[in-house]
Amino acid sequence: MRVLILGGTVDASQLAIKASAIPGIEVIVSLAGRTRQSAKINVQTRIGGFGGTEGLVAYLQDKAIALLIDATHPYAAQISFKAATAAKICGIPHLMLVRPQWQPTQADRWIEVDNMEAAAAILPGLAKRVFLTIGRQELSTFAYLEDIWFLMRAIDPPEANIPIPQGQLFGITQDIVAIAVEHAQNLPVKRVTLEIGQLAVVMPDAIRFCFDVCCRGTVLEGASLEILEIAGLAKCRQCGAEIPLSEPFGICDRCGSVDLEIVRGNELKIKEMEVDDLCA
Ligand SMILES: [Zn+2]
Repeated sequence: MRVLILGGTVDASQLAIKASAIPGIEVIVSLAGRTRQSAKINVQTRIGGFGGTEGLVAYLQDKAIALLIDATHPYAAQISFKAATAAKICGIPHLMLVRPQWQPTQADRWIEVDNMEAAAAILPGLAKRVFLTIGRQELSTFAYLEDIWFLMRAIDPPEANIPIPQGQLFGITQDIVAIAVEHAQNLPVKRVTLEIGQLAVVMPDAIRFCFDVCCRGTVLEGASLEILEIAGLAKCRQCGAEIPLSEPFGICDRCGSVDLEIVRGNELKIKEMEVDDLCA
């Protein structure tokens, strides 16, 4: 049986690895090509869009897919809708990986709205400073609220051409720059070298993208950035074999166990800084 998993999440990759270990199941994972999960996993993978619902229908028929599993990001509402429609047209079963909802607890004060636009609409009069932890694609919905300051959490940077709300984009790059500034002790920094493990939940490209902006107005302004990527390595807890990894999980190719201990590849650190020594 051939199964198509719409992926791009850690959950999807774990599901793909486990499903492909089941005899008689052939797994194909589809990735939009946007996230860290595009890093190669050891199953058949295709990258890129399908070309709408019609394209997905054509693909399902062409590849004779018997089951479609939607394991995309919870914010990827469009692809989920297309997946459901395409599966229905093709008459094949369709599963959706649904994560548990947040449950209100006693002291919580929740205000429920129907969508992002409605959330943006009620903010004026409610708060002056707002923390947004939403998909980066949706930040622009809040950009028109000029009287509100936003703290925005983002692992990947938003695309350069979309409007984002005023405030601060909080991410890993800011943290790195802050640490480097502290160590520079007011001396101008010429170069920063980072070590980033392949299994760390951060894309080198995302850091490169934000670095210059984050350095602005600090002793790191104008510094060059060098990134050393470290390949992932795990040790099998069952048989002791060493397994190269490109994802923070995997399967032992010697004994088939998924009980792996990560040996290398989790790094995210400043390895070196070149400082302009003004006294020299
Ligand atoms: Zn093993």
